Amino acid sequence: MSSRVESGAWLTGRHAGGTMFVPAATHREGDAHALHAPVLVLNASYEPINVCAARRALVLVLKGVAMTEEENGHFLHAARLAMRVPSVIRLLEYRRIPHQSRALSRKNILLRDRNTCQYCAEVLLSSELTLDHVVPRSRGGLSTWENLVACCHACNRHKGNQFPPEAGMKLMREPRAFNLHTSRHIMRLMGRSDDKWRKYLFY
Ligand SMILES: [Zn+2]
Repeated sequence: MSSRVESGAWLTGRHAGGTMFVPAATHREGDAHALHAPVLVLNASYEPINVCAARRALVLVLKGVAMTEEENGHFLHAARLAMRVPSVIRLLEYRRIPHQSRALSRKNILLRDRNTCQYCAEVLLSSELTLDHVVPRSRGGLSTWENLVACCHACNRHKGNQFPPEAGMKLMREPRAFNLHTSRHIMRLMGRSDDKWRKYLFY
């Protein structure tokens, strides 16, 4: 089993296959929520590289892959064990982060576009958004970071199989691959409310 922070786990909090940390018995109401609390992941060099769910962070700490740098003040109760839930963890071994480490997925496209329809600028729930191929598939458009954008159903219907200008539509901004710069921006947005993240994200 890989102990790496898989690329697809970036910001999604997906747990490691096989050995996910499941409390034998949860004694507290808040435990389920605590397992999903976002945790900032630092490289061994203290460079912020990821955000994962607390459950995944605990797995990394239990496996000796990472250590807790900051706690979030909550405990996770599993069997007779009470574990402090981390807010920030740091990998013990330095990991080279590839330039484009983000999996192309609906979830990540919506994250990149901040759940905002890229044509009418409306901010919607994920369930109310679809993905639009800027260059329609029927006209050779590919499913790539540069050709997929978050789109509301109304705009998607209106656009149909046309290029944006043909439909009298304009993109809010040019779609780009989700790179480390974008990631850091999002980590900062997420970390604004968490004092414990601040010193690692704002420098
Ligand atoms: Zn729209």
